[in-house]
Amino acid sequence: MPEVVARRRLEWAEVERARGVRWGAGLLHLTDTCPVGCAHCSVGSRRDGPRVTDFGLFEAMLDGLCASPGLGVVAISGGEPFAERRALSLAARRITATGRLLVLYTSGVWGTSGDPPAWIGGVLRLASCVVLGGDAFHAARMPAPAFAGAVRAVVAAGAHLVCQVLDTPRERETAARALTEALGPGWSRVAEVRPVPLLPYGRAAHFLPPPPSAPGGSFGRCPIVDAPVVRYDGWVLGCCDENVVMGAGPPALRRRATTAAEVTAALAELRDDPLLTAFGRTGLGALTAAEPYRDLAGRPMRGICDLCGHLLARAQTG
Ligand code: SF4
Repeated sequence: MPEVVARRRLEWAEVERARGVRWGAGLLHLTDTCPVGCAHCSVGSRRDGPRVTDFGLFEAMLDGLCASPGLGVVAISGGEPFAERRALSLAARRITATGRLLVLYTSGVWGTSGDPPAWIGGVLRLASCVVLGGDAFHAARMPAPAFAGAVRAVVAAGAHLVCQVLDTPRERETAARALTEALGPGWSRVAEVRPVPLLPYGRAAHFLPPPPSAPGGSFGRCPIVDAPVVRYDGWVLGCCDENVVMGAGPPALRRRATTAAEVTAALAELRDDPLLTAFGRTGLGALTAAEPYRDLAGRPMRGICDLCGHLLARAQTG
């Protein structure tokens, strides 16, 4: 068993550094249920979305993830992980007991009471970093006091807080104001605002026009191919793209597993795949300079994941 390390706070730049190392960080997709139902949810989670029902399978997925070498940082996302008390408590304990640093993604919907239940405090105390949805779509669906309550609970538990907002001046200013109200003027010592683009997936797909096509040879490195995903329901995935997480994307990125040993083997197979490794190093477009991919260099692609699907399919058929 890996040595147990003391928890330490993780700022977002450190999480990003871990994600940039092949299998330096991984993600446990814990549930597809979420009580909030934001209009821009990139994985389309709903109140009645699928959730953990087979705890034997869930533990096997968790154990396989925790037995995989590397993976110094493990994040838990969903859906809303805090909607799964039993699964989240178990996962947070096991991930940290095997020496990984824990990152949690949450809407903060549990912060309404201002004093969250003891089990939530217990999970937060195991986390090194908590990424809290702070954008206008979240605010529109959450009770007003929930954000401030969640912010204070995360900071009181000793985790670093990352308030994730959409990348507009208004969103950044609103988040900074809300953090000042919740934590006082020195909030940046314990928290940061992370602006992100609106992703054209899930319920947000209709907010954005389809991306323009570009020739295959023009695409660069994939920034998220080095971070694998293990889903609660038996899937091991070679990247954390939302479409792949939700069952679409290139089939070559997906493995089925039902035991911990199968999870660990699937993770090792995906990690050692030379083409996937090259996606994060050489870049996808650069690969089209070589046979048997040369005809893809000038072919219009709807995005980097479109090219990825073609490259992987071509590699499989030789
Ligand atoms: S390019 Fe391939 S590996 Fe990268 S995010 Fe898209 S589907 Fe995943």
